[in-house]
Amino acid sequence: MNGEVPASVQAIYDEVLHRNAGETEFHQAVREVLESLAVVLDRHSEYTEMKTVQRICEPERQIIFRVPWQDDRGEVQINRGFRVEFNSALGPYKGGLRFHPSVNLGIVKFLGFEQIFKNALTGMPIGGGKGGSDFDPKGRSDAEIMRFCQSFMTELYRHLGEYTDVPAGDIGVGAREIGYLFGQYKRITNRYESGVLTGKGLGWGGALVRTEATGYGAAFFAEAMMKVRGESFDGKRVVVSGSGNVAVYGIEKVHQLGGTAVACSDSSGYVVDDKGIDLELLKQIKEVERGRIADYAQRRESADFVAGGSIWDVPCDVAMPSATQNELDGDAAAVLAGNGCRYVVEGANMPATPEAVDVFREAGVGFAPGKAANAGGVATSALEMQQNASRDRWTFEHSEARLAEIMRDIHARCHETAEEYGSPGDLVLGANVAGFLQVAEAVHAHGLI
Ligand code: GLU
Repeated sequence: MNGEVPASVQAIYDEVLHRNAGETEFHQAVREVLESLAVVLDRHSEYTEMKTVQRICEPERQIIFRVPWQDDRGEVQINRGFRVEFNSALGPYKGGLRFHPSVNLGIVKFLGFEQIFKNALTGMPIGGGKGGSDFDPKGRSDAEIMRFCQSFMTELYRHLGEYTDVPAGDIGVGAREIGYLFGQYKRITNRYESGVLTGKGLGWGGALVRTEATGYGAAFFAEAMMKVRGESFDGKRVVVSGSGNVAVYGIEKVHQLGGTAVACSDSSGYVVDDKGIDLELLKQIKEVERGRIADYAQRRESADFVAGGSIWDVPCDVAMPSATQNELDGDAAAVLAGNGCRYVVEGANMPATPEAVDVFREAGVGFAPGKAANAGGVATSALEMQQNASRDRWTFEHSEARLAEIMRDIHARCHETAEEYGSPGDLVLGANVAGFLQVAEAVHAHGLI
């Protein structure tokens, strides 16, 4: 990594490295926050005295468990489940579950750590946590997914509760999985506790706009960012990596706001469609058929499929990396900037490497970190909790208006905090400092726990 760790936080970083050996993504996420915090510690000696930063870097609880299940052929499978309950200073632990073969403790900790600050930025009363499993849902039948979810919840349920820990979806976990998880939780506890999971189906406690929220939120954030520079989505070419939930609804909102999304991807390659991505076709392939992005190009004349390769080679004005962590490296960033890209807005969690962020800084490309730009998903989860608690149901319009307002507020807070702390325009610093200050104040108020 390029940025120097400031001397005042070097010892904290060294301790994190030592205590969490080998967890590279977690180190990366912590380092990025620490690089922003020296300016805060200069102004707040109480946080140094009370080791507030060190306490925030140490999860409150880490749960690792065995998940045994049987596949359709009768073969016994064993996966590993995780839930890292990172910080509950602002509310119950809140954050998604990821089912993907790459999942390990370091990845769950990086995600949980990011979630603390992201959730703080939403202004909603939610703490930070994350979980998941190294289970690979690809190619699995519905029955296998259900059996896995039931086994997973059979251990996890004892750690959850609407006032304790409230999971939701992430990569590999959508409405179908949340349904199976909720069913098993209800069966074991004999409680219809709607607020224990978010991302539920609309007919049984789910909230309108939750499905669209992360992608819509990222587009609203991008719009707020452009407005500061006197610009808008009008006429802009946008490249969105991924083709999951975040990407699909990011593209939908970009189109509604006047931009044109011309490319998206999956792990096999990317499609370029200069006429603009046909959303109905994309949704049919990814949501209904659970198919591959190559199918899109086969059914659409204006589209080309590029196997492998880098989607960041496609020239654009705005890039929205919305697939996964570290998908956009320094070389890709240089290509993007060289092709005239002006804005990079993270739809996924930490998709740009530290080298990429440095390239954007030097080239004057506006950069929005995921913990600010993709907070719309979890913010709308908090709105779902609010509706569950009051046994209420809001309209799509009202929910979307709340989401748009939250995203504009997050942008304003990051922008103003960056200015206040001497780095105008640096939304990474703004997000880290604003999120940290909110959490640290609560941690401090709660005493030494
Ligand atoms: N997994 C999403 C995130 O990264 C949403 C979490 C939630 O809704 O709790 O923020």
